[in-house]
Amino acid sequence: MFNSSSIIRFLSALIIFTLVLTACQNNQFETEHFIYKPVGKQSPPSTTLMDDLDSEYARITELLNVKNEKKLEIIIYASHKDYLKKTGLPSWSGGGYSRNGIILPEYDKLTAVHELTHVLINRINPDTPRWLNEGIATYIAKDLLMSMQELRNEVKLYMIPPFSSYRIVDPTEFMSIGGYKMSCSMIDFMVSEYDWERLLQLIRSPYDFEGVFQMSGEEFWNKWKEYLNKND
Ligand SMILES: [Zn+2]
Repeated sequence: MFNSSSIIRFLSALIIFTLVLTACQNNQFETEHFIYKPVGKQSPPSTTLMDDLDSEYARITELLNVKNEKKLEIIIYASHKDYLKKTGLPSWSGGGYSRNGIILPEYDKLTAVHELTHVLINRINPDTPRWLNEGIATYIAKDLLMSMQELRNEVKLYMIPPFSSYRIVDPTEFMSIGGYKMSCSMIDFMVSEYDWERLLQLIRSPYDFEGVFQMSGEEFWNKWKEYLNKND
């Protein structure tokens, strides 16, 4: 099922990619899995970054068990200001993605891995709910810069939102409830107490908690809260 905001997001990303494609054809750097397209005046991506992202690509495609046919584009703007101006993304946004690849305001490995994970999750299911999609991307990229134990301790101090938040679509609303930490913590619970295979099943059938975990979504949510409280 498509919703209008995801279609608008997809279309605007498509337009951006088309515009950028024509703008920087002579300034590209190709690796095994990516085509880097820096926009405007800036230094080329470092060899370390390019090597790191190629190995992260291999790690994530293996974790998600997903195949990707074409090389992905990495569009990098010269500044965060340029990035916001050209993409129209919210001011707190640190990166974006579309079907073709990722969009970054600067050379940053963790953000690149986070956005790359979204692209590959969407290869499995383009309608993966935001909660699940952000949770997995944050978990895989480890871009919260804290250990899972620190995250558990922090998240349980928050007011855990009800199960209905699993359906939040709006990125700013998601951000405002601490969605990145919350959803990452839920993935940590899923992987620690169950297994990775069920996470992959949930991407394919995101609302079928009964089929994947043999319990309702509400029950699953309560088990996650219990997990946070027993993990001191
Ligand atoms: Zn994200």
